Amino acid sequence: MTDTSKLQNRIARCRICSDRFAATATQHRPRPVVWFRAKTPILIAGQAPGMQVHQKGIPFHDRSGDRLRTWLGMDAAQFYDRDLVSILPTSFCFPGYSAKGSDLPPPPICWDTWHADCLHDIGVVKLRVIVGGYAIRRHTGLRCSVTEAVRTWRKHAPETFLLPHPSWRNTRWLKANPWFDRDVVPALQSRVKTILTEAF
Ligand code: SF4
Repeated sequence: MTDTSKLQNRIARCRICSDRFAATATQHRPRPVVWFRAKTPILIAGQAPGMQVHQKGIPFHDRSGDRLRTWLGMDAAQFYDRDLVSILPTSFCFPGYSAKGSDLPPPPICWDTWHADCLHDIGVVKLRVIVGGYAIRRHTGLRCSVTEAVRTWRKHAPETFLLPHPSWRNTRWLKANPWFDRDVVPALQSRVKTILTEAF
């Protein structure tokens, strides 16, 4: 068993947040969604699984994932090729809903416990796609709004892209910021295409 598989198994068995999740409106149990390997050329650094992903155990297997794959210019077979793409959220488990039905933030202890080891095992990637405000803050240290962070994309491309969360809740954001679809998405797709060409 490789060191990466040992780490994956340890994360899959993690139950640190049992009490925290039991106290949410959803009262769910931890179900870490672990999907990374060493030496993949692409890293998707996301936030946390939603309810659908929690139930299915497959990252981005929801409408947000459909939109993200469109932005990347990847089909599902490419996106879920474990030799090509590692998917590393700031929290491996669904954080749950509040009493008002809002998404709870990713538990910081997940990042603090696991992420240094995960990033070490994944290693140097050719493309890092950081998705959503929590992930952007964690990976870049930026404390500005998501809009301001994404607007800096030319400073980070083509090795890193900062993206808003692809949730349907951000459809209004996309309409208000047409430069994202016009400028960022084609540059991201071009980078992915180059990596896919090199890989196959
Ligand atoms: S969110 Fe992270 S730290 Fe919490 S139980 Fe899941 S894997 Fe463990």
